[in-house]
Amino acid sequence: MAEVLVFVDHVDGAVRKPTLELLTLARRIGEPVAVALGSGASDTAAVLAEHGAVRVLTAEASEFADYLVVPKVDALQAACAAVSPSPAAVLLPSSAEAKEIAARLAVRIGSGIITDAVDLEAGEQGPVATQSAFAASYTTKSRVSKGIPVVTVKPNSAPVEQAPAAGAVETLTVSFSAQATGTKVVSRTPRESTGRPELTEAAIVVSGGRGVNGAENFHIIEALADSLGAAVGASRAAVDAGWYPHTNQVGQTGKSVSPQLYIASGISGAIQHRAGMQTSKTIVAINKDAEAPIFDLVDYGVVGDLFNVVPQLTDEITARKG
Ligand code: FAD
Repeated sequence: MAEVLVFVDHVDGAVRKPTLELLTLARRIGEPVAVALGSGASDTAAVLAEHGAVRVLTAEASEFADYLVVPKVDALQAACAAVSPSPAAVLLPSSAEAKEIAARLAVRIGSGIITDAVDLEAGEQGPVATQSAFAASYTTKSRVSKGIPVVTVKPNSAPVEQAPAAGAVETLTVSFSAQATGTKVVSRTPRESTGRPELTEAAIVVSGGRGVNGAENFHIIEALADSLGAAVGASRAAVDAGWYPHTNQVGQTGKSVSPQLYIASGISGAIQHRAGMQTSKTIVAINKDAEAPIFDLVDYGVVGDLFNVVPQLTDEITARKG
């Protein structure tokens, strides 16, 4: 069975959930071989093995942290060459950084690329990726017709599954290209942690819009999010009004989310907002206007004032967790 390279997104050895989802998809099309780079790379092996990695290729050079994406492109290119015969695909998460790595890798190795896939299955002529296009108005299926398929996959597109495999750690030899050291990282400032999950990776997202009517009211949305262990999102109207940070904006010019559950409160459902959340598995909306367009795409809708509904929902969830 052909091997499938999976780029590991990790922080000092702690593997992030989208990588484990990629392993589930990789197992559908071949044998997953994980590629872990940077500080703590070898610490990722145990969890990757538990989720199906037959091999874990590691490289811990300081270049991965000291320079922007090119050293990682060099490493993935080396990994492609280290796999014989050629890998059936290279899978990466659809983060901003990984999509840049994927694009550069595809150019380097002369391959086609598919970004933001929401599903992946084996096909006779290579893996077939599902994408959700034009604000989720269309679902498309595509496959790469040239070179090793490079595919980035949105978080929450597959379940995390236990599938114990050998996970043998092997050192990947990488010779860095002349471009690798072209852009140096000069400082890093960690973002203040909210204690909530990362918006694009969260299994549940609770978002607030113009109906929240002020920054001082967003604590209602945050309280519901915290009762569910969810991330907080916001519409552009709420962000433009300065009520919530731009990093939390969901939509065409914000982040794209695809959680198991999306709760929209005081959001009308403009096409540009839908573009960022329409692939969510279950959508719930709370809006006082029964005619709001958001109700066209919901699984459950509550017509009501969010200032009544949201706190009651939070209390009920908290009580049931009791
Ligand atoms: P509104 O459309 O004003 O809706 C507010 C809703 O709250 C209404 O339906 C109202 O009935 C309801 N409401 C009011 N009070 C209450 C209450 N007390 N209880 C319950 N419900 C209440 N938008 C995004 O969100 N993300 C994007 O990335 C994005 N990108 C854009 C890019 C471009 C190029 C353009 C042109 C627009 C973009 N927009 C984006 C803006 C988008 O068109 C809408 O203007 C925006 O989504 C509206 O936000 P909203 O739903 O919060 O506000």
